[in-house]
Amino acid sequence: MLLAHRIRLEPSLDGRDYFARAAGTARRVWNWALAEWQRQVALGLRPNAMALKKRFNCIKYSDPDWLDEHGQPWLRSIHRDALAVVLPRIGRVLLRERLRWPGKIMGASVSRQADHWYLSVQVEVPEQLAMRSRTSDAVIGVDLGVTAAATLSSGEKIVAPRPLKAALRRLRIRSRRQSRKLEAAKQASGITGPMPKGTRLPVSKNRMKGALSLARLHERIARVRADFTHKLTSRLCRENQAVVIEDLNVSGMLANHKLARAVADVGFHEIRRQLQYKSSRYGTRIVPAYRWYPSSRLCSVCGVRNGELTLAERVWTCAACGIRHDRDVNAAVNFQRLATGALAARTALPEASQAVTPGTAAGTVPAAGGEVTPVRDEHGQQDGSGQEEYAAHVCARF
Ligand SMILES: [Zn+2]
Repeated sequence: MLLAHRIRLEPSLDGRDYFARAAGTARRVWNWALAEWQRQVALGLRPNAMALKKRFNCIKYSDPDWLDEHGQPWLRSIHRDALAVVLPRIGRVLLRERLRWPGKIMGASVSRQADHWYLSVQVEVPEQLAMRSRTSDAVIGVDLGVTAAATLSSGEKIVAPRPLKAALRRLRIRSRRQSRKLEAAKQASGITGPMPKGTRLPVSKNRMKGALSLARLHERIARVRADFTHKLTSRLCRENQAVVIEDLNVSGMLANHKLARAVADVGFHEIRRQLQYKSSRYGTRIVPAYRWYPSSRLCSVCGVRNGELTLAERVWTCAACGIRHDRDVNAAVNFQRLATGALAARTALPEASQAVTPGTAAGTVPAAGGEVTPVRDEHGQQDGSGQEEYAAHVCARF
């Protein structure tokens, strides 16, 4: 099983300088290739990667654009790839922590966030060492939302961490300060209106400082978010044999949801991505609910559909059985029922019978440890509207 581990690096000053130059080189080569590609397309040619590579190899040691002030090709000072962990050209770099898994190292790359450098290592870990055991074998439905980041079918609501909110507020303030500095620098160099591409404003210490503090804050926000999603997804996989989650690409398009959801969208995708890869380590099945499954509108007790439910209604009462529902908990319970098949068995609603798409669960056999109740993942009847194909497409991306 291929696992990836991202470790913070402690490079020496020389190391930092080298990394910065290597990253700059990679960016510049990429930009050159992109410009060349677009130029060829504009001329009606059909560019291809191999020819571009050849052309680059012709010019990289001779073209004036790629020579330094001494007329030396500067690419020579940067190694062409960074695939060893002892890194080429730079030798050993201190790592903040040990590599977590034994196994064969398949690849590695170096990246930067704010002023920190990281090493991502891909390790091929033997299957039995990669597997984790679950603490229980529940089946749970998860409704992702904005007010509570995740609502579980057990009724628990998991809210995003509070530091995130404060940090986001600070982010607004710092970005505003930074753009004022930028504006001032533009005025000082006599530029009005949009800056022409490639303009270099005179460097100011204060602006650099502002940029760095903004970058650090972005990094911090990313970390708080990552910590939250990792803990949430690990817990879901550790405690459950099946996790039913709505197929999200989707609800964004479904209704006016769009605006409210856009804010947290990245988080949703990350949650699903993490669930997907962690589930294979815990032997947990991830069951995406069918995209048109009306999880919010169905009464989770009697199965009657509330067609009048609006987005603003956080709490509603079922007209048929009179039970009061919390909107998110009700949706989460409906998801859970999809997995156990209870809803389909009791009410035989067409929505329910289609609701779980085939071939989408992680496809792994649950790990040893505990009885496994059958999870419903067959497709049910088709209605001939072509929705099945669409669902298959959606789920292939899941
Ligand atoms: Zn009801």
